[in-house]
Amino acid sequence: MKKILIIEDEKPLVEALKFTLEKEGYRVEASYDGKSGLDKFKEGDIDLVLLDLMLPGVDGIDVCKDIRKESSVPIIMLTAKDSQVDKILGLELGADDYITKPFNMRELIARIKAVLRRSEKITEDTATHLSWEDIIMDRERHEVTRRGEVLHLTPLEYSLLELFMRHPEKALPREYLITQVWGGNFYGSTKTLDVHIRHLRSKIEEEPSRPRYIQTVRGIGYRLVKPESKNSS
Ligand code: CA
Repeated sequence: MKKILIIEDEKPLVEALKFTLEKEGYRVEASYDGKSGLDKFKEGDIDLVLLDLMLPGVDGIDVCKDIRKESSVPIIMLTAKDSQVDKILGLELGADDYITKPFNMRELIARIKAVLRRSEKITEDTATHLSWEDIIMDRERHEVTRRGEVLHLTPLEYSLLELFMRHPEKALPREYLITQVWGGNFYGSTKTLDVHIRHLRSKIEEEPSRPRYIQTVRGIGYRLVKPESKNSS
């Protein structure tokens, strides 16, 4: 049974969510502030987090960042206003989805199911392997193979590919990729990132000049897509 952690300070909403989710067959834990939410998360065993953006104390943004430092657990943000959506998207927290209050419970359930399905696809055999189409990343051996053939990636290319494989089908902004891969030690321009992406493509794409895995999202960054989809790049 999947376990959902709700971090939300509006108690009536938490009660309603608990009732609905338990009826849907989920186990539910709830915290009313960011600090205890993080503590609960660290106790482990959480399959999805419903996270309010505006929380007393440690707010939802910091909770999301903290969780992302150590986990790729699916996170759905709950926001009070449409205006906050820009904030979420702008910050690129690594949340998987968001929903604006007041929301329809059935829509939320649909989102939860979609996000869980997506994460299951990439976390079969969770800790050690990530797979996307015919690419398999063995994180224990630190090795990437495509159809059994080893791809020789630099540590940087490996980190980039890992980010893409953890967030398939999502447009990942350049700034996000840079922060994740270089942390505070990035002194180049975003062109530096583009160069590494080009190298990565040359290793995983059959036709690097017409990338089918890692596509450019104009004005934003890059996205890992299914090879058969031929969106313009
Ligand atoms: Ca709130």
